[in-house]
Amino acid sequence: MLTRAPKGTRDILPAEIGRWQHVERLFAETCRRFGYAEIRVPTFEHTELFQRGVGDTTDIVQKEMYTFPDKAGRSLSLRPEGTAGVVRSYIENGMASLPAPVKLFYMLTAFRYENVQKGRYREFHQFGVEAFGAAGPEVDAEIIGLLAAFFRSLGLRQTSLRINSIGCPDCRTAYHGILRDYLEPRLEGLCRDCRNRFDRNPLRILDCKEERCRLATAGAPALLDHLDPPCRDHFDRLRDALSSLDIAYTIDKGIVRGLDYYTRTVFEFVSDHVGTQGTICGGGRYDGLVEACGGAPTPGMGFGLGVERLLMHLDAQGVPLPVNPGPDLYLAPAGDGARPAAARLAQGLRERGVSVETDLCGRSLKAQMKYAGKIGARRTVVLGDDELASGRVRIRDMATGAEEEAGLDELAGSDVLAALLVAP
Ligand code: ATP
Ligand code: MG
Repeated sequence: MLTRAPKGTRDILPAEIGRWQHVERLFAETCRRFGYAEIRVPTFEHTELFQRGVGDTTDIVQKEMYTFPDKAGRSLSLRPEGTAGVVRSYIENGMASLPAPVKLFYMLTAFRYENVQKGRYREFHQFGVEAFGAAGPEVDAEIIGLLAAFFRSLGLRQTSLRINSIGCPDCRTAYHGILRDYLEPRLEGLCRDCRNRFDRNPLRILDCKEERCRLATAGAPALLDHLDPPCRDHFDRLRDALSSLDIAYTIDKGIVRGLDYYTRTVFEFVSDHVGTQGTICGGGRYDGLVEACGGAPTPGMGFGLGVERLLMHLDAQGVPLPVNPGPDLYLAPAGDGARPAAARLAQGLRERGVSVETDLCGRSLKAQMKYAGKIGARRTVVLGDDELASGRVRIRDMATGAEEEAGLDELAGSDVLAALLVAP
């Protein structure tokens, strides 16, 4: 127990942190260019927020949430996704009085009690954006465009965009009748959850992952074919907007998304290597959510992207991702007398931007050189009595063996180190 992390959780080790920092940097940079500002919200919230904001007929709330009473007896839950907390924050902090649209992005961990598999964990990472206060399809297209730009900058290929519309509550009320008529004779064949959903929210049945439910709903009438004119118009204009951005998509009438609060646009980016963990990212419009959570009626649109899945698909496609580089310089004190000077020099260089390692383990000079090779130092400098007396050192390039002489006082300003400083 003590030496095993809980099932479904994972350490991100120093050897792979370079990949994570790379995707985090690119996502934050893409969001900045598109005008989205970062928001950080709490890891846990009142359970009611997720019941309301994610929806209490969803699998997430019914089966997957980590819910616990705190010491004062309040029911709290670890966030299973990011949107509900961001919506709560938007309302609580009066962001409705800011000039619309309010465009936010986040990078956070989320928690779901799931069957653990590759690409499916109990603690996982999501990137997401939310835009509040703009009702038109232009913001839907902008957000999809943000994802397309992010994927392109990463070098991710072989993903398809699938879009659908699930209309507004009015279209859905009409459609629920049509869907129930279709499902009624097939009710016996559905799983227990879906039999319960039949009365409360039959649309959920279309999102069930049980094989028998998928079979039973395969020929069901699609909501997309029963939109009212304003919702139809929104969808048609989204299609036009995507086409003018040269963003390819397919219409997938089967996408209903796992969350209750979506209206109109829903979309997913799916890897072409299909599998149950093929969905990298899902999102949509949620015009009823802010009001459902206690705010004024406010249109909203956003997505959540699974970072582990993104990295998994980047790997599967062989997209090279940066690993952590070794230090710019290894500074080797030759003999105990040189140690204070080496420590001082390392400190000074580090403060001027050079990444420097020096000996902390009392190694011999030979062992230090071996160590410098192991940690991938790009240059080495030996600092001994001679160097200290003459004030001059030799900077050795570990890859080529080439050496260059520099004065101790000008080390950080030397050409080779200056080149290292500007190197990525
Ligand atoms: P799935 O259908 O795969 O269960 P979902 O519809 O539950 O996904 P969302 O709630 O839309 O997922 O979350 C957005 C994204 O977060 C997903 O597209 C996926 O990439 C990722 N994700 C969801 N659940 C997990 C998990 N348990 N582990 C890792 N990533 C996840
Ligand atoms: Mg899920």
